[in-house]
Amino acid sequence: MMSDWDKVKEIIKNAGFSHMGEIRMETVELMDEVRDMCQNGNCGMYGKNWACPPGCGSLEECRKRLLSYRTGILVQTVGELEDSMDWEGIKEAEERHKKCFLETAEKLREVCPELLPLGAGTCTLCKECTYPDSPCRQPDRRVSSMEAYGILVSDICAKNQMKYYYGPESIAYTSCYFFDFSS
Ligand code: SF4
Repeated sequence: MMSDWDKVKEIIKNAGFSHMGEIRMETVELMDEVRDMCQNGNCGMYGKNWACPPGCGSLEECRKRLLSYRTGILVQTVGELEDSMDWEGIKEAEERHKKCFLETAEKLREVCPELLPLGAGTCTLCKECTYPDSPCRQPDRRVSSMEAYGILVSDICAKNQMKYYYGPESIAYTSCYFFDFSS
């Protein structure tokens, strides 16, 4: 019989991502500096979404939540671009990645109900986020970004032997899933 770990690997392998790689939990580092980038950075979602800081909880709360997870898998979508100004190509790769990531999260939840998915960018499950006027509409499904959890994507990729940059004529989107069972 297949273990839950084998089942989730199989689901991810068949999902259509460009690359996947196992995360060794000791390489997961939650850094204040990355969270500070949310506040200072240019994505503009700080304080606008339940999945972003400060709505997603303090870094300490995120750390505590992550402590109950035993394994993780990084997933990447790499899009080929005509050149670095190929905005359409960038958008296409981003949409393809997000769709695949969310659909796969639903499948993984059937094996791991406590799944923690951390995506690329803010939560876009609802057309408009309810933050801060009323509670999150889908607290069990909402997706925080890796950065909201203080994870530096290039760092976690390097520590788990995954590439982060695939050259000037490509764009890579990286996300991950954490599971509360061992591999
Ligand atoms: S699920 Fe909806 S309400 Fe909750 S964080 Fe995402 S967009 Fe906002």
